[in-house]
Amino acid sequence: MKNVFDLSGKVAIVTGASTGLGAGMTLGLAEAGADIALVDRTGSPETTEQVRAIGRRALNITADLSTIAPVSKIVEQTVKEFGKVDILINNAGIIRRTPAIDFSEKDWDDVMAINSKTLFFLCQAVGRDMMKRKYGKIVNISSLLAFQGGILVPSYAASKGAVAQVTKALANEWAQHGITVNAIAPGYMATNNTKALREDPVRAKSILDRIPAGRWGLPDDLKGVAVFLASPASDYVTGHVLVVDGGWMAR
Ligand code: NAD
Repeated sequence: MKNVFDLSGKVAIVTGASTGLGAGMTLGLAEAGADIALVDRTGSPETTEQVRAIGRRALNITADLSTIAPVSKIVEQTVKEFGKVDILINNAGIIRRTPAIDFSEKDWDDVMAINSKTLFFLCQAVGRDMMKRKYGKIVNISSLLAFQGGILVPSYAASKGAVAQVTKALANEWAQHGITVNAIAPGYMATNNTKALREDPVRAKSILDRIPAGRWGLPDDLKGVAVFLASPASDYVTGHVLVVDGGWMAR
């Protein structure tokens, strides 16, 4: 069997590539052979160097995804540098923790804007390029909170539920154009996103006690899954939300 996970010659855009899960998935795709446009509001100098050290080409794009203003330019820059976009990993996201009764409009709007609105319009922008070539792999990062309500994070849960539904909606429309659209729903992963939880001894213990794998997830745990959904190995998989959670949802 040829290597159906091979990404040689493919071009990927990864958002939120500077740290955490985005950095892990970027390196996974690069190890599988892809060239990468790394997008982050801080820029991604370290991850960019790591991609180049693997022997792949990297374009470090600084962009604030809290509005859709930079979306078309990100795709234009990537196409100018690499000629096309084969893969989009829509990973950049934020979370705000406050009891629902006190939750502010700003915390609602900020989270929905980047986690679901910009995510959708990035899909649309790369979708236009992918449709022309009848090939594309879109991977949206959702969360277990597409299935569960979470605690103190109502806009985050709403935004990640939206990611799962947008993924299915686009999969329905775009399968005929050779584009697969899937989502990853990570469980509890040790990144900046979960720092407050891991620093709260009560929450940290209750979370760890429920994870059958007995540990928090790590950025490396998403490498193989991202490569699977970005590669020909998953050509007949679309509209799927793949849970990567050390068994949390099985409990
Ligand atoms: P993180 O906070 O370490 O990484 C988020 C990345 O997004 C950072 O690189 C950050 O700079 C970037 N980013 C944030 N706002 C941005 C903006 N306005 N413009 C451009 N880039 C921006 O957290 P993470 O855990 O690596 O999160 C990655 C994704 O995974 C997020 O969508 C998050 O919701 C999701 N997720 C995380 C967990 C977890 O347990 N850590 C679980 C489920 C889903």
